[in-house]
Amino acid sequence: MSTALPPSTTVLVVGAGVHGLSTAWHLAQAGVDVTVVDKTGVAAGASGIACGVVRNNYFQPAMAELMAACVEIWESDPAAFHYQGSGYLALGPENQESDLTAVFERQERIGYPSQLILGEEAVRDHMRGLYADWRAPGLSVCLHETAGGFALNRPAIEGIADKARAAGARIVEGVTVEAFELDGSGAVTQVVTDAGTVDVEQVVVAPGPWAQQLWAMLGLPDEIDVRQPDGTVHEAVPMWKHWYLQEGELDLPPGLFVTNDGRPSPVLHVDSTSPLVADDGTLITDEQWGIYVKPDHASIQGGAQPLPLPDHPPVDPYPAGTVEDAFPDMWAAALSHCLGRFQGGRATYRQVRCGGMGAFTPDNFPIFDHLRPNAFVIADSNHGFKMIAVGREVARVLQGEHSSLLHPFRFERFATGDLHPVSNSPYPWS
Ligand SMILES: Cc1cc2nc3c(=O)[nH]c(=O)nc-3n(C[C@H](O)[C@H](O)[C@H](O)COP(=O)(O)OP(=O)(O)OC[C@H]3O[C@@H](n4cnc5c(N)ncnc54)[C@H](O)[C@@H]3O)c2cc1C
Repeated sequence: MSTALPPSTTVLVVGAGVHGLSTAWHLAQAGVDVTVVDKTGVAAGASGIACGVVRNNYFQPAMAELMAACVEIWESDPAAFHYQGSGYLALGPENQESDLTAVFERQERIGYPSQLILGEEAVRDHMRGLYADWRAPGLSVCLHETAGGFALNRPAIEGIADKARAAGARIVEGVTVEAFELDGSGAVTQVVTDAGTVDVEQVVVAPGPWAQQLWAMLGLPDEIDVRQPDGTVHEAVPMWKHWYLQEGELDLPPGLFVTNDGRPSPVLHVDSTSPLVADDGTLITDEQWGIYVKPDHASIQGGAQPLPLPDHPPVDPYPAGTVEDAFPDMWAAALSHCLGRFQGGRATYRQVRCGGMGAFTPDNFPIFDHLRPNAFVIADSNHGFKMIAVGREVARVLQGEHSSLLHPFRFERFATGDLHPVSNSPYPWS
């Protein structure tokens, strides 16, 4: 249910995705007058189309610490968030052993529940203990997170919206922000929308894939210099790049994707250097490949490595639901490569409205920071369906507190070289 746009509000939040809504929820809980506006509606952006994977597996310490806080929130109300705490499995060949070992050791230090299995035979035994029909060869490392799992995308976001409304937040749908009026100090005084102008004390911008547009409206630069940890400076790096995440579904019941004891499967993420061959014997690739997959509410859903898009790709209507011609064969073959139960699954592949575009920062990690004196930007670099704790932290910052979880994601890291460490993963988000 939408509501009317007020002439003034203490905090105006742009975007009714996971971040805008969870920020509004926590602000309203603290008694702050808060209004969320969305040009389409709740869950209209990336949050409503995300695969919904909730994992801790990040090579970067700051990401792992933030994810641990997020999982606590997912676990706090699984029914409202449509969350399934089935866990997460990351498997890889030899070249992933050191990264996943580092992740595991950090998880041990921060008390995040996981197991590390090393060596081909031990990995195969562990996987057969979970799935009797496991058959992927050549994998010598497995990180098994027993916390985390997945949530159903749109229902989860609607669950957060319900909590925000119940706490007293206004959610106004079908209103597009067109400009920000700034005063001499660069602070936002008014937000100009297609439904009128709103006087504001503070603004939170949580635009997901529309980051480039809102960034420009705030008068922020479209290129920046990026200092590397070794002190060298990469000049005039484009502020935003865009990738398309290819995802699809097998029209098979989620009940097929369970563990030996009949529980919903953990999310499965496999990177492999073994040749990938389709069920009919056709070679798909003999180069490294990677996929992820999870049971969804009525199907088996997942994806593979993303595709880079050209500069300034169209964002409206939000691009979703298409893949390269080769994707269905590759993804279905990979599932069958891993689990016998998916043999022949290619015949059930369907291209529903899943998959979509994300906006990435110069180092592929989020920016959570005040970019104007009273305008806080949540630009999650497409990491963020799982990041349900970011809104809680932003609400704290807006009320004058420090957030040690958000501190590593401040914008100044590009000028100081205080960047996040880079892993060996082929994905831009690991
Ligand atoms: C295909 C795909 C799969 C993904 N899978 C996962 C996953 O498994 N796990 C995970 O953690 N993350 C995943 N992600 C990333 C995750 O979905 C995003 O990082 C996250 O949802 C971004 O949330 P948000 O609230 O910032 O943005 P969004 O959910 O995109 O919300 C932004 C909102 O802003 C609104 N808006 C934009 N411009 C304006 C304007 N001018 N005026 C008013 N409103 C405006 C839009 O309508 C939109 O509703 C995936 C992303 C994609 C694309």
